[in-house]
Amino acid sequence: MVKRQELFVPAVITKAHTFDPGEFRKIELTLPHEFEVQGKTYPIHDRMRPGTAFLAKPMGVRTTRFRRRMYTRSNCAFTAARALETIINDTHHEKADTSPWWQTEEVEKLHQIGGTIDVRVDFDDATSELVVYENSYQVEPTNLRLEVDADWSAMRILAIAFSTGITPFLSHLRYMSAFNFGRATQQSGVQFILVVSVRHPRQLMDHQELLDLAHRFPENFRYHPVLTREWPDSWNFGRGRIIRMEKTEGGEEQVNLSPLLGLVTDISQFHVRMCGNASARDQLVHGFHQTGNAPVSFRAEVW
Ligand SMILES: Cc1cc2nc3c(=O)[nH]c(=O)nc-3n(C[C@H](O)[C@H](O)[C@H](O)COP(=O)(O)OP(=O)(O)OC[C@H]3O[C@@H](n4cnc5c(N)ncnc54)[C@H](O)[C@@H]3O)c2cc1C
Repeated sequence: MVKRQELFVPAVITKAHTFDPGEFRKIELTLPHEFEVQGKTYPIHDRMRPGTAFLAKPMGVRTTRFRRRMYTRSNCAFTAARALETIINDTHHEKADTSPWWQTEEVEKLHQIGGTIDVRVDFDDATSELVVYENSYQVEPTNLRLEVDADWSAMRILAIAFSTGITPFLSHLRYMSAFNFGRATQQSGVQFILVVSVRHPRQLMDHQELLDLAHRFPENFRYHPVLTREWPDSWNFGRGRIIRMEKTEGGEEQVNLSPLLGLVTDISQFHVRMCGNASARDQLVHGFHQTGNAPVSFRAEVW
């Protein structure tokens, strides 16, 4: 029995891939198989549900202290146990602390020398093992924890991701593809549409993998990347903002959802899931209301 306290285990930085220099990075932190607590060694189990976040202690550039921060996982425990992958962006907020640190050379150097970052685990009294902490244990309107397998495999899901908001949906997709998108003899499986909005091509995350997945599972998965500020002439996908704020002649604010409705015409038949910032969420909800396109259900996580 381990005394009630928060436990942190050093996890090796096994991946530090830069998508957009100074802006976005993919990081993977790998936990050991076991860890010693109060003189006894316990196994570490990874049962994180897709769509949840883990807790790590990166360095803050402003405070020069280790800070507790949450990171949504982009891979899944089922196919990559104890290797916690995430995508981290620099928020550029005035008080930004750890998010700029993740983009520094220091992290690359740490990666090269096998450096570690502390990750939270919990002690499971029932099984006497350590388990990777996850931020949410229940499906709620304000999180993106994936529904139980019997539910998602029969759903039509429209996932809308702004920038690094793609992270939970990458986890959903890696999990779903490991289960053949829920296809079975009697069941055609999930219908999952991913719309990802980023500024320019350097910010496209795991783009080729997603194209390949859509090619392999055309009946279950559609991928719509959208570039909002810069695109090459050869770009065959979406251009410009998917939700536009406009003013009516009377000066009232109105949400123009037509770019999104151009990609997915029957939104009212989908469970909509969204990840991004709070104002994008509010505009989306307002737009559904205004245009009479209420989805079957709506869940969103904002950071
Ligand atoms: C569930 C969840 C999942 C997340 N997943 C990801 C992810 O996958 N990728 C990602 O990049 N980010 C993710 N985040 C955000 C991430 O945890 C960090 O908050 C973000 O990277 C910014 O960190 P930061 O240290 O730069 O700045 P902040 O967390 O904004 O904090 C900067 C500093 O300002 C202080 N501060 C903040 N607000 C105030 C205030 N109002 N008054 C006084 N001081 C304040 C803080 O204490 C801190 O010292 C997630 C957050 C949550 C909650």
